[in-house]
Amino acid sequence: MSKTAELQAAIRDVADFPKPGIIFKDITPILSDGKLFRQAIDLLCETAGDRKIDKVVGIDARGFIFAAAVADRLGAGFIPVRKKGKLPWKTHQAAYSLEYGEAVIELHEDAIKPGETVLLVDDLLATGGTAAAAVSLLEKLDADLVGISFLIELTFLHGRDNLSQHPIHSILSY
Ligand code: IMP
Repeated sequence: MSKTAELQAAIRDVADFPKPGIIFKDITPILSDGKLFRQAIDLLCETAGDRKIDKVVGIDARGFIFAAAVADRLGAGFIPVRKKGKLPWKTHQAAYSLEYGEAVIELHEDAIKPGETVLLVDDLLATGGTAAAAVSLLEKLDADLVGISFLIELTFLHGRDNLSQHPIHSILSY
């Protein structure tokens, strides 16, 4: 089996979580298996290509798990984009729509220096609202966004269309 097929086989579909009608992709079986977790990080690191990455940015909360491991492997710094109210220093904020209502994410104002190369990492691309909000925060800091990498892309939700100015990579797609 290929590396991606092994990862795909490990992902667990959970019906009606967190709400009726949603089929949630549970990535915890990948995290708990040392070989599969390493394969996922290997493949995410490859999405950086030949560029030297200064900072890997991860999105609260599952994105942290992948982004921090990728940062360590690439010898880059790790930067958290967090849900509102969690970061202690001065922040920029971005709001985005959820199915019901709005959410706000934040980034420290001094997290990235202008022109630093950044790889944005999250576990899953659905509608793209979360990643687009994170991109808007990175643009405020004049980061050089090299790419946006996801372990999983739900292609039928067309989240890519919200992120079209940047190279997007996904390891597994549904
Ligand atoms: P989007 O903003 O609609 O693209 O949703 C993506 C965000 O929601 C990511 O940060 C994911 O962690 C989370 N998410 C949405 N659906 C799932 C799922 O099925 N499994 C894991 N995370 C999900």
